[in-house]
Amino acid sequence: MVIETRPDPSRNNDRALSAGELAVARHLLIHGPATRGDLGDRLNLSYASTSRAARALIQEGMASEALEQESAVGRPRQVLTAVPTARHVLGCKLTTDTAYGVVCDMYGNVTAAARAALPRPDSSGTVSLAGTVKVIAQLTTRLGRKVPSLDGIGIALGGVVSGRSTVREGTFLGWRDVELAGPVTERTGLPVTVTNDVTALAREQLWFGAGRSHSTFGVITVGAGLGFGVVREGVAVEELIDNGHLLAHVPVDPRGPVCGLGHRGCAAAYLNREDVERRVSAAAGRTVTFDDLIRDRAAGDEDAARLLDEAARALGHLIATFAGALQTPCIVLAGEDVAAFAGSRVMDEVIADRLRPGPDEAQRCVLDLITTPLTFNDWARGAAVAGIQNILGAV
Ligand SMILES: [Zn+2]
Repeated sequence: MVIETRPDPSRNNDRALSAGELAVARHLLIHGPATRGDLGDRLNLSYASTSRAARALIQEGMASEALEQESAVGRPRQVLTAVPTARHVLGCKLTTDTAYGVVCDMYGNVTAAARAALPRPDSSGTVSLAGTVKVIAQLTTRLGRKVPSLDGIGIALGGVVSGRSTVREGTFLGWRDVELAGPVTERTGLPVTVTNDVTALAREQLWFGAGRSHSTFGVITVGAGLGFGVVREGVAVEELIDNGHLLAHVPVDPRGPVCGLGHRGCAAAYLNREDVERRVSAAAGRTVTFDDLIRDRAAGDEDAARLLDEAARALGHLIATFAGALQTPCIVLAGEDVAAFAGSRVMDEVIADRLRPGPDEAQRCVLDLITTPLTFNDWARGAAVAGIQNILGAV
């Protein structure tokens, strides 16, 4: 016997959830269906609080509840399930020249994707804010047609973002102290959250990836630059104190190559795509891209293999340092270039050596490395998940 409890069609999508409702919604989204009793136990809520939260979520259309007869003699159980399609959010990743958009449901499932060119930068290298807002609004209209309604927007970009709305430094757009959330809300009428792209990725991992098994973990992205995200005790760190410099420029080898800031042998010198390409191109007397290096290695080129091994070694040190400082066994490796290092023997050896116990010690942990090479749509999905968390009122 299954008795469905139907949502109230007059639901109000704008109301932020209470702490209890959010905890229940989050648990259902991340861990799947559960009884009120299970939820109370897992979330340390009283039965009355759990029931109140369940009723509110059903009322909002965000959860449904069914009576399931467990056995012929037992009492029927009320099982709560999230309704992922109750809300949809546009996620938008801004690069130097393109806005990548995806629409996601509450599970972070992508239901539609599109992209649009951003305005060209002016003579000072600045991309027009008004033009960018217009492009995002157009993507919102275009992708909004694919779902019953859009409930919010999450925007992610490289750089420093404050207060989930102001781009303090928009590295790739030439922006400084640009208020972005307000103008997009004005144009679209939707709640907007703006996030550093790696932070958005950390938020996505918190709900739908590494966060399912680890309450504390780090994210390293390898691509156009090195990026870092931190989740501590179930909370994503919104703004890094140093924009990742303390890790990106950690010394690896005092005889190594020089990074763009002039450090000899820091991690960035080995892993920043621009730094690597500049150095290799200068040595070769022609333009050599990171992708060329990967291709050359596959074709048996020893120089390319050595260069990528050196980079993998630097990445191994970076992972070990990050994990040690954060005191987590879990590091997520992501980004456009990370596939080049997945399963690297050199990287594994560096990490094993850093963990190696002394003569009278036992090894305390092994590292859990999760590698997720990313496309721009994956970055946009991270933005969408940050947008979902925003409309649900999650911290
Ligand atoms: Zn450096």
